[in-house]
Amino acid sequence: MDKIYDIGLGNNDVNLRKKAESDFVSFWDDQAKNLSWFSPWEKALDWQPPFAKWFVGGTINASYNALDIHQKTKSEKSAILWEGENGESRNITYGEMFSQVKKFSNVLKSLGVKKGDRVTIYLPMVPELPIVMMACARIGATHTVIFSGFSAASIKDRVTDSKSKVIVTADGGYRRGKIVKLKDVIDEAIKDSEFVEHVVVLERTKNEISLSSKDKLWNDLMNNASDQCDAEKLDSDHPLYILYTSGTTGKPKGVLHGTGGYLTHLYSTFKWAFDIKDSDVFFCTADIGWVTGHSYVVYAPFLHGATQVMYEGAPDFPDASRMWDILQKYRVTIFYTTPTALRMFMKFGDDIPNSFDLSSLRLLGTVGEPINPEVWKWYFKIIGREKCPIIDTWWQTETGGMLISPLPGLETIPLKPGSGTRAIPGVNISVVDENGDDVPDNTKGYLVVKNPWPGMLLTLWGDDEKYKTVYWSKYENCYYPGDYALRDDDGYLWLLGRADDVLKVAGHRIGTAELESCIVSHHDVAESAVCGIPDEVKGEVIIAFVVLKQGVFDTKILEKEISEKIRNDIGAIATPKQIYFVSKLPKTRSGKIMRRLLKAIANNEKIGDVSTLEDGAAVTEVQSAFDDIQKSLKKNSG
Ligand code: ATP
Ligand code: MG
Repeated sequence: MDKIYDIGLGNNDVNLRKKAESDFVSFWDDQAKNLSWFSPWEKALDWQPPFAKWFVGGTINASYNALDIHQKTKSEKSAILWEGENGESRNITYGEMFSQVKKFSNVLKSLGVKKGDRVTIYLPMVPELPIVMMACARIGATHTVIFSGFSAASIKDRVTDSKSKVIVTADGGYRRGKIVKLKDVIDEAIKDSEFVEHVVVLERTKNEISLSSKDKLWNDLMNNASDQCDAEKLDSDHPLYILYTSGTTGKPKGVLHGTGGYLTHLYSTFKWAFDIKDSDVFFCTADIGWVTGHSYVVYAPFLHGATQVMYEGAPDFPDASRMWDILQKYRVTIFYTTPTALRMFMKFGDDIPNSFDLSSLRLLGTVGEPINPEVWKWYFKIIGREKCPIIDTWWQTETGGMLISPLPGLETIPLKPGSGTRAIPGVNISVVDENGDDVPDNTKGYLVVKNPWPGMLLTLWGDDEKYKTVYWSKYENCYYPGDYALRDDDGYLWLLGRADDVLKVAGHRIGTAELESCIVSHHDVAESAVCGIPDEVKGEVIIAFVVLKQGVFDTKILEKEISEKIRNDIGAIATPKQIYFVSKLPKTRSGKIMRRLLKAIANNEKIGDVSTLEDGAAVTEVQSAFDDIQKSLKKNSG
């Protein structure tokens, strides 16, 4: 049994959980009162499965709750400490954010944007990105942010799907010291579009751009805009944004989020999970193009009037010390990142983080993929210096905010590396079998959510039917996230990867996460992805892809050691038929391993939608690895 890390922050409010267990609706009703409403709701939850309306009859505005409410006490407080990739910095106060957001709200109005209209945003990680989002929210327009690494074709799909009249972009953005010409990408994406009326262009990199009659420069518009603009009083379920999922398992889905329920969920989870204090400096490394950026960069920290660091560029640019340099420079107290980033940092060795003063840190978090216990321990020891709790937060674009996480701001709970511990209060989670019955402890099954929760998506944009099929058809009145999980003897939840990634070898079901964790626990391994290929006898045999740490080469010995480790830790059944060493794995732009791609290549199937793929070169490498495997298998059998 692994060591249990008992380092809670000492907060312990047992009553809150009790209340949530006895009546989740009235529990969330209380939580919603933490926000500022223009008019109160008549009903906390209207549940017409599978459609939930939270705080029906109440009116609210996200931008009002993010900015207006702080002006009396915090107008001089830093909202964003922005670090440019090239070392520039900007300190933007709550007062400045407020006036910029009101001005841009007026800009949007002057371009004909009205309540309910969609606005597409394609901007790099600059403060103007949250400014535009909050300006949309202020006037009741629905924003749809597209990650600034996406191609023209992906933008075209999304702009067409959301029917945006206005696009806000920049001339360019910096990535690894180079300029990515964003405006050119937009020009290409909308060249045949009939309904895009205006493109607003922020000058960030000052590269040459061509301007058409649709194009307006940010500064020209802002210089003429008034900074008076009251926040629109919107219904609680007014659509705040559409955001497309990362596309790890298939074509991205247009998730639609509302306002009052979503903000309630964020306000509470930010407080419970991050134990946020007025003096904290929060830093979430997620790009705003993903849900983590929407929820825990843009909305949640602002609801709490928190100070945060926002970084423009690549985490390892100009070198592997960049993150630690930022943590030291801004005296960051709470750091929230992803397992994929941590595995990368780990690959560079301990000396780099060890040479920085990280003593300001008090709390660490992770999100996006299962975190391998080995990586968790490294994070705990090398970054947290054995004094910071780590919150492993499980959630999805669809859930809006965290559903499973340790909550140091609420209660003390001993931590186990690799487990998200339990569901947050007010959320009812189970692990069930194919029939929907709870599985016994320590048995793998499907994660489900048995009640609606306030951050829950309203629907999939323009496709209620798909919403019903994807999330609500496997089990009656139960939300199906598509993840595989287990609850241990102590009631701790372990996320074991995507349900459709499960390997079935000789009648055994083996979770990809479990197997990959075992491989990554070898000290020379940085990353790993496993998948199955069909086998006449066993159903499936396992193939493992392994990326080694820097400076490690002797693969012959490693192959043996890794196989042995798997045999010892999991069992002979899980031993890979072949281990293949590659320099990178195919990942989504949000940094997740795209196992469906490995599977498709292995099964000689069409690769499907790869608009969210990070680096095509990884696919080529994997493809040739498979070809080699196939050849050697044929040779052996022939
Ligand atoms: P798509 O739905 O298009 O395939 P995606 O699921 O990768 O994309 P997101 O909504 O960004 O898009 O990711 C949510 C998923 O990420 C979860 O369903 C889960 O598989 C994984 N995940 C997130 N956080 C954790 C965590 N802490 N532990 C394990 N898995 C996690
Ligand atoms: Mg998903």
